[in-house]
Amino acid sequence: MSDFAGLRALVTGGASGIGRATADLLAARGAQVAVLDLDPSAVDKPLIGLRADVTDDASVRTAVQDAAEALGGLDILVNNAGIGAQGTVEDNDDAEWRHVFDVNVLGMVRTARACLPYLRRTATARPGTAAIVNTCSIAATAGLPQRALYSATKGAVYSLTLAMAADHVREGIRVNCVNPGTADTPWIGRLLDAAGDPAAERAALEARQPTGRLVSAAEVAGAIAYLASPLSGATTGTALAVDGGMQGL
Ligand code: NAD
Repeated sequence: MSDFAGLRALVTGGASGIGRATADLLAARGAQVAVLDLDPSAVDKPLIGLRADVTDDASVRTAVQDAAEALGGLDILVNNAGIGAQGTVEDNDDAEWRHVFDVNVLGMVRTARACLPYLRRTATARPGTAAIVNTCSIAATAGLPQRALYSATKGAVYSLTLAMAADHVREGIRVNCVNPGTADTPWIGRLLDAAGDPAAERAALEARQPTGRLVSAAEVAGAIAYLASPLSGATTGTALAVDGGMQGL
């Protein structure tokens, strides 16, 4: 099945984890895909790798323009680049709060701002295909301990998704987000490695999941692909949980 034949997508943070799985899935389903990342050196064909930092507006604008030129336009933005932060409000200083908000929230704002003119053209030329999917998190609404800063950024991404959906629905641009639970990506691998006994930490983490396992990057990519595709053409302003049942507990 090639749901994405003829469609052109940009995936931020697409060199690793959820972003890479999404870029690979969209490409496998027929899309032309550009990846924007701090380090796109591991991105290979058919994906187009573009180096940019979502905290730097000029580099985002250049990468988006390069993506649109290489692909002949843009139909889909997957706003996925993000970083983690651990601790309570007493553990992160103002500089850390500013930096994580700069990446996780303003990074999505900058990329959306640069992509919207292209998505608007798509919405006119190819009605029903322009879509933005933001990678949010169950942290947006779950009240997780030791995640004050990270959760606040994802709460902002959730609100941003709803507001953007309202702003752009009449232009024919849909905006949704996915809320992954703990997904098995290099990021989680780094956290486990830092914990001392990675195997024991992984087993403890898996034991806390209702399914007894972590969510895979490919499963999050599947949800993103659904929200990015015309199959979800009447859906905007929603958050799709991909959390192995965590939210229901
Ligand atoms: P990851 O670390 O494997 O991949 C993140 C990618 O983003 C990397 O390639 C990195 O280079 C890129 N990136 C980071 N900062 C950037 C910047 N300033 N500019 C451009 N690119 C940048 O992480 P992942 O687990 O795949 O996470 C992807 C998204 O999923 C994030 O938004 C994260 O908050 C969200 N998420 C992850 C989980 C999880 O358990 N892994 C759960 C919920 C939400």
